[in-house]
Amino acid sequence: MTKILALTGAGISAESGIRTFRDSNGLWEDHRVEDVASPEGFRKDPSTVWEFYKQRYAQSLGVDPNSAHLALVKLEEHFGDSFHLITQNVDGLHFRAGSQRVYEMHGRLQSCFCISCRTHYKVQDIIMESEVPRCKKCGDILRPDIVWFGEIPYYLYEIEDLLKNTDIFLIVGTSGVVYPAAGFVMTAKLFGAYTIGVNLEKPDNLGFFDEFHQGKCGDILPKVVGKLIDTYEH
Ligand code: NAD
Repeated sequence: MTKILALTGAGISAESGIRTFRDSNGLWEDHRVEDVASPEGFRKDPSTVWEFYKQRYAQSLGVDPNSAHLALVKLEEHFGDSFHLITQNVDGLHFRAGSQRVYEMHGRLQSCFCISCRTHYKVQDIIMESEVPRCKKCGDILRPDIVWFGEIPYYLYEIEDLLKNTDIFLIVGTSGVVYPAAGFVMTAKLFGAYTIGVNLEKPDNLGFFDEFHQGKCGDILPKVVGKLIDTYEH
């Protein structure tokens, strides 16, 4: 049974209308990354950070998954529980497309939690609340459920296990710059996986790909997925 693991980055959502960092000179929707995506930025100005993530949440609801997200759903339908998907994206578009075995390693826009008691809330339930929402249990402030720079990504144990045991590693729409995700291709290759990349530009870790397709993933990924489905039986 062939095992397939996919890793996606901001590029897969670009054709849905959500900008990547690299397209915007390292800015995230015109904000400096350290201001809106670091624990220090949140400590300094929690209301600006909350405003930013409320906007990102609203934006994510206003766009639709594209043909690249849907191609990964097809791959999962074919390979079933031999397929897993790791995403660096926080926009929820993989779930909305219909993917099920998804690891959102950098968190999710739909959720937030209390910095003291860690109670989780849905952003849709607090979006109309004050600039910096507060925990209904302990009264401390809530923060977006996003893994910021300098924090430890989610699911690292599960991801390490998947990387060491996959036959094929498919990497889509990611620059190969943001660690630890940028290093995943090296681990998978070291443990024997066949590695396939799809990206608009050549990624920084290009040397670790057995096969690389340059261009828009909305055009290319459905073809790559079609070939995988034709070649490998579940
Ligand atoms: P990145 O912005 O560093 O790189 C995106 C890559 O996608 C670039 O190399 C670019 O060439 C490529 N790309 C752009 N359009 C493409 C297309 N149509 N088809 C194929 N490739 C395309 O993104 P990253 O490496 O994923 O890291 C940035 C971090 O920022 C992520 O970890 C994520 O947490 C966060 N982020 C998330 C979102 C989102 O959830 N949609 C958007 C922006 C940033």
